[in-house]
Amino acid sequence: MVIDFHTHTFPDSIAERTVAGLAACGGLPPYTDGKKSSLLASMKKSGVHISVTLPVATHTKQEHTINTLSAQWNGKDNLYYAGAIHPDCENVCDTLDFIKENGLFGIKIHPDYQGAHLDDPRYIRILREAAKRDLYVVTHAGIDVAFRDHVHCTPEMILRVLRQLDGALDHKLILAHMGSYEMPDTVLEQLCGLPVYMDTAAVLDLYPEKCVSIIRRHGADKILFATDSPWKDQGAYIRLLRSLPLHTEEKESILHANAEKILCISG
Ligand SMILES: [Zn+2]
Repeated sequence: MVIDFHTHTFPDSIAERTVAGLAACGGLPPYTDGKKSSLLASMKKSGVHISVTLPVATHTKQEHTINTLSAQWNGKDNLYYAGAIHPDCENVCDTLDFIKENGLFGIKIHPDYQGAHLDDPRYIRILREAAKRDLYVVTHAGIDVAFRDHVHCTPEMILRVLRQLDGALDHKLILAHMGSYEMPDTVLEQLCGLPVYMDTAAVLDLYPEKCVSIIRRHGADKILFATDSPWKDQGAYIRLLRSLPLHTEEKESILHANAEKILCISG
């Protein structure tokens, strides 16, 4: 059983244009054209049984459409969806209630694409309300390849947010890109051991040895296998994870068991 906890798809009508635009911004060649059918084909080819798709609302106007579709598709075709919310959201409670009532496991936020820092009071409020509803929060963390000069979610901000939430979000916050993209040494020093999950998306092939050090220090029970498809190849990521010098039980936790707990499914 393999669960990829961090993937993206786009509506067929805009997938090619969107993926091409993002690829040009970040200088990353995509492995699929970003359509849902292409993710399903990649899963079949690579041996991924379930993918978690993380849509991002880049404007508050998009939330309702994204969440309605995600609610409709969640759990079908072996795809699970996070809800979307923007810091400018005017009805935070209603939006999070809709996400919870429709069975989505949590929300995805992306401070770089949403133009706010993680410790912005608007995010703090969203995170507090999400925690009250027992929703998980996935956030992009660290450098974003399209916004290298301005990091909107740094390890310091993550620490500040956890302090402000005073335990409310413990074991509910999922930091993408192994705690902070391209900042593994700071993650090792400042974030390892905290009550947060980290996903392996987009960094496992960049610095696999550092990833092993982070997994060892943080604990394999708080690491989620993830690729960031279409930006990485799911098959190559599975092979790489399986080749790491970790115990079999650790690999099983990372590849599916931890994700099963979050998604409330049994393997
Ligand atoms: Zn991503």
